[in-house]
Amino acid sequence: MEEQRYAIVTGGNRGIGLEICRQLASNGVEVILTSRDPSRGEEALEKLNVSGLTNVIFHQLDINDPSSIACLAKFVETRLGKLDILINNAAEFGIITHDNKEFRDGGGLLQVVDERAHLLANIIEEPYELGEKCLKTNYYATKRVTESFIPLLQLSKSPRIVNVTSIYGDLRWFHNEKLKEELRDIDNLTENRIDEIIKWFMSDFKNCKLHKNGWPLTVSAYKVSKAALNAYTRLMARKYDNMLVNCVHPGYVITDMTSQTGFITAKEGARGPVMAALLPNNGPSGVYFDKTKIAPF
Ligand code: NDP
Repeated sequence: MEEQRYAIVTGGNRGIGLEICRQLASNGVEVILTSRDPSRGEEALEKLNVSGLTNVIFHQLDINDPSSIACLAKFVETRLGKLDILINNAAEFGIITHDNKEFRDGGGLLQVVDERAHLLANIIEEPYELGEKCLKTNYYATKRVTESFIPLLQLSKSPRIVNVTSIYGDLRWFHNEKLKEELRDIDNLTENRIDEIIKWFMSDFKNCKLHKNGWPLTVSAYKVSKAALNAYTRLMARKYDNMLVNCVHPGYVITDMTSQTGFITAKEGARGPVMAALLPNNGPSGVYFDKTKIAPF
């Protein structure tokens, strides 16, 4: 008989995270649906329970709170004894959006064929504080969660880490060729260097030097956070050759993050992350999936 597999999904209470929980549970995985807010988490659990999925449990997790991470790690260690799948899904967009009524009234959404639809359908503001929070959550907190669960993942026969990234983490949005080269050169890149790059970005963000130094000019902090996450994914894959560590762009999905302006449902968006979580032992590691297909970083 196959051994029971256990998965943690961060930000599992809504959007793509909730659908990842549903699909993993439907595949026989015992899922820990986590949410920073217990009532939102319990409500999400209830939704899965009423659809007949009983192999899901809820545990509180605020990825920005080290004591919350430690509490979940203790719970998994004592109750389950190992972890097979970690899905780092929780993230923040780092911007304030206002409905671009003119664009919507003009039927503009129908004319746009990629994620820019979201930007055009909304007038966006990027306050420094939100950008800082975005990097803290999407990169540093995700990294802390990952580090905290490595020992439990090492006890699994088929450990998987799936980092839910974005096409916005693509280096095409960066215009500093030297920096792009550095982020691509995974043999020489280090976690310390990624930290330095993020500090450099935050300083340029504060001092209005984004254009001068070739950083992404819209949704900047989010793009940098996901590019950093992609690089970290590759470093982790290199460091742990017994694990499959990958990142997945879910597609442009109808969720709160896109103000419900996506092209595919959360159910469809969850497919890529779930596929990466269930890869066979001879599957790839350190790669980027655009939905379910391997693509360049
Ligand atoms: P949503 O905004 O709908 O959901 C985000 C989830 O993350 C919520 O559950 C939220 O919790 C949780 N979260 C945020 N901060 C924290 C925190 N500190 N601790 C714990 N949970 C937290 O986003 P999506 O479902 O659209 O996005 C899911 C993932 O997919 C993200 O990584 C996103 O970057 C990525 N993605 C999404 C795309 C899309 O088109 N939707 C496109 C590309 C990538 P709460 O409810 O408490 O706020």
